[in-house]
Amino acid sequence: MKFILNQKIIETNEPLGIPTLDFLRKIGIKGVKESCHEGDCGACMVLLGDLKDNTLVYKATTSCLLPLGEIAGKHLVTIEGLNQNGLNPIQQAFVDTGGTQCGFCTPGIIISLTGFFINSNLEKNDILTAIEGNICRCTGYASIIRATQLLSDHISVVKKSNKERIPTLIDADILPAYFSDISEQLKELKKVPKHNKGTYVAGGTDLFVQNKTLVDPVFLSEMDLSGVWSDKTHIYVGAMTDTESIRTSVELNSVLNIEKHLSKVSSLPIRQKATIGGNIVNASPIGDLTIYFLALDAEISLKFEDKNRIIKLKDFFKGYKMLDLKKGEILEWVRIRKEKKLFSFEKVAKRMHGDIASVNSALSLKLDNKIIREPHLSAGGIGPIPMYLEKTSIFLENKEISSDLIKGAAQITDKEISPIDDVRGSALYKRLLLRQLIYAHFIKLFPEFPELEGLL
Ligand SMILES: Cc1cc2nc3c(=O)[nH]c(=O)nc-3n(C[C@H](O)[C@H](O)[C@H](O)COP(=O)(O)OP(=O)(O)OC[C@H]3O[C@@H](n4cnc5c(N)ncnc54)[C@H](O)[C@@H]3O)c2cc1C
Repeated sequence: MKFILNQKIIETNEPLGIPTLDFLRKIGIKGVKESCHEGDCGACMVLLGDLKDNTLVYKATTSCLLPLGEIAGKHLVTIEGLNQNGLNPIQQAFVDTGGTQCGFCTPGIIISLTGFFINSNLEKNDILTAIEGNICRCTGYASIIRATQLLSDHISVVKKSNKERIPTLIDADILPAYFSDISEQLKELKKVPKHNKGTYVAGGTDLFVQNKTLVDPVFLSEMDLSGVWSDKTHIYVGAMTDTESIRTSVELNSVLNIEKHLSKVSSLPIRQKATIGGNIVNASPIGDLTIYFLALDAEISLKFEDKNRIIKLKDFFKGYKMLDLKKGEILEWVRIRKEKKLFSFEKVAKRMHGDIASVNSALSLKLDNKIIREPHLSAGGIGPIPMYLEKTSIFLENKEISSDLIKGAAQITDKEISPIDDVRGSALYKRLLLRQLIYAHFIKLFPEFPELEGLL
């Protein structure tokens, strides 16, 4: 298979299921650093460029979770590919503020910031979001933040330009001139031939943490499974839609405050990769998207060849990592009813970005003259599967909202769950945490009922 590495076409017969990081280090590209090898630290960050509707789109992504087969026919950029005769403005900002010390994390950070310049709306407040997936262990974040502040003039200049983004960034010395030829070169490169037997790979952010190499990857990115769309009654989310696209979807934000809620999920580079299909099929008891969509009473479509079946998401999970998924079936889409409901999502994690939850929970309901209608409550981290809390949801239905009712609901939840002691906390801690999250849902959703404040 072929791809462009910086400004050179590379052809390789290496297995398609190995991490790109390992390949790059093997061929002597040492600007990508190996550290956690689990997508956590950002030291191995690269830019991956692909043609979407004839437009070249780049995303910063961790090369340790990026299988080699996913870069076929694409443009891979490492720090070596950003170097010019002198330092570019991003690199210079780090020198000027002492934003680098041992230097191990610096290439990854420069790559992430370059991704911000290429790919974002250039809101100055978002520049730190671009580096939320990069960990530094010696310089200290203060000087790194100062380096990003030095870039504000460059952001303004790029934002004001009437030219397309890539030529503008070449003019601003942020990208080397060879970037202007990449689009044409990519049109000539072939993708990996499609095949359909083996392990389905979506974003790979769970798979490549669990397995360092896959023998038989089937890249679902080759299938038409992403996007958010709607009909009269439902909003659909394609299984290959990544978390950041879900978070920023206009369609979903018209009925939910999903942009704010999903900013609690991992870091930007992971959100740009991690798909909803992967989150659901991975069946982690604390998968954030799964918990989110369980409380929306979502349905899913499971497809094999040209037949599909639709089931409730809550019926998909049968036991720890046991699913109602037949051999070869693909999760095709997730759908929710197209209606406005009151919705709350809470997540407690040791670190907000780049970490999964200790306990998370979501609640949707309608309020009809103080009466709760159609409540759906879910929670993660408190049992072997992502849990739809059926008994609590039924208990709340058609009852008048009050603090006694909510206390009663939390007691029912306590009987429905079966948390265990693990690295994320003791079983007792998780029980108490979920009770507080349930209280938090109601207190935040109903500020007009001050008596609920007394719950905490
Ligand atoms: C650093 C880091 C931080 C993270 N933080 C969070 C977090 O905050 N919250 C959270 O919930 N998760 C988090 N995760 C976990 C992970 O990102 C999510 O679970 C993600 O949604 C998985 O999606 P994916 O596309 O990467 O799945 P993959 O790893 O590609 O696949 C996961 C599983 O699903 C199967 N699969 C994928 N798509 C389909 C499909 N359409 N049909 C059938 N089978 C399919 C695969 O074969 C595999 O078994 C984090 C991971 C990392 C590495």
